[in-house]
Amino acid sequence: HTKRSGRNGYNFFEPSMNANAHNQLQWLQDLRVALERGQFRLVYQPKFMSPDGPVIGAEALLRWQHPVHGMVGPDDFIALAERSGLIIPIGAWVLDEACRQMREWLTLGYQDWKIAVNLSALQFNDPQLLDVVQAVLEKHQLPPHCLTLEVTESTAMYDTASSMQTLQKIADLGVDISIDDFGTGYSSLLYLKRLPANELKIDRGFVRDLSAGTEDAAIVSAIVALGRTLNLRIVAEGVETEVQQAFLTSVGCDALQGYLMGRPVPPEQFLQAIQPQQPTMRQA
Ligand code: C2E
Ligand code: MG
Ligand code: MG
Ligand code: MG
Repeated sequence: HTKRSGRNGYNFFEPSMNANAHNQLQWLQDLRVALERGQFRLVYQPKFMSPDGPVIGAEALLRWQHPVHGMVGPDDFIALAERSGLIIPIGAWVLDEACRQMREWLTLGYQDWKIAVNLSALQFNDPQLLDVVQAVLEKHQLPPHCLTLEVTESTAMYDTASSMQTLQKIADLGVDISIDDFGTGYSSLLYLKRLPANELKIDRGFVRDLSAGTEDAAIVSAIVALGRTLNLRIVAEGVETEVQQAFLTSVGCDALQGYLMGRPVPPEQFLQAIQPQQPTMRQA
C-alpha cells in the first residue's frame, strides 16, 4: 500500500511518510523549517578495534525530532532532503555539529578518535564541499585526521571528474575517506580504484547471516583480503552476534561496529555507554 508516483522514477512518498496523514508537501514544509527550529539531532555509534580493543571513534547518525511524529530516522527523510536540495544545508549542519562534538571529546583527551560523518551524493557533487570541510575544521580547531567522511557507492551516479577532484583535495587535507556499504553498489571495484579511500565498510547485508562456511563468509573474507592488499582499514557494520564478531575477527577485520558492541546514543550518553574505556591521554 505504499503509494508511488513513478515521476522521475522516484518514490514520491517515503513508505513511513505515507503511513500517516501528513502529505508530501507538508513533509517538505516541515523539513524546510526543521533546521532553523533546531529539530535535528545526532546520535553516535562507537567503532571498536577488533576483536575487543579500544574505541577508535564514532559515526554520527542523523535524527529528526519531528514536533508531531516524534523521532524520524534518516531512511525516512534523506531522500526527500536530497530531492529538495535541503541536504546541502542539513549536511553542513551535520558536519558542524559532529566536529563540535569531536572537539569536545578531543579536549577530554580522546585524541585517537575519529568522527565519521555520512555524506550524501549531492554534497559529494557540490563544488563548495572542500571549502565547507576546511572551514568547519578550522572553526573547531580539529586536526583533519580526526574526521572521516563516509561515502556510499550509490554516490557513483554523481561520479564526475570534478567531484572526484573535490574528494581528492579533501583527502589531501588529511581527512579520511571511507567507502560505506561496500559491496552493494553497481561498480564497487571501479569505485575502490578511483576513490582516495582509507577505509572500507563491509555492508551489513554481508554480515547479517554470517557464519563459517557460508557464501557470505567467502565474500567477507575476499573483501578483507582485497582491502588488506589496498592498505585500507576494514570495518564491519551491523555486528549483532558473537558468531559474527568471532568470524570477522578471525578473517582479520580491523574494526567492528554494531548493536553487539554499542548502539547509537545521544552524545551525553556516549562516554558512559563505552565504559570502562578511558581516554588514552588526558590534556591539562
Ligand atoms: P549507514 O551509514 O550505513 O549507517 C549504519 C546504519 O545501520 C545506521 O542506521 C545504524 O543505526 C544502523 N546500525 C548500526 N549497527 C547496527 C546493527 O548492529 N544492526 C542493525 N540492524 N542496524 C545497525 P540509521 O541511523 O537509521 O541510518 C541509516 C542510513 O542513513 C545510514 O546508513 C546513512 O546512509 C544515512 N545517514 C545517516 N545519517 C546521515 C547523515 O547525517 N547524512 C546523510 N547524507 N546520510 C545519513
Ligand atoms: Mg555510514
Ligand atoms: Mg554503512
Ligand atoms: Mg547503510
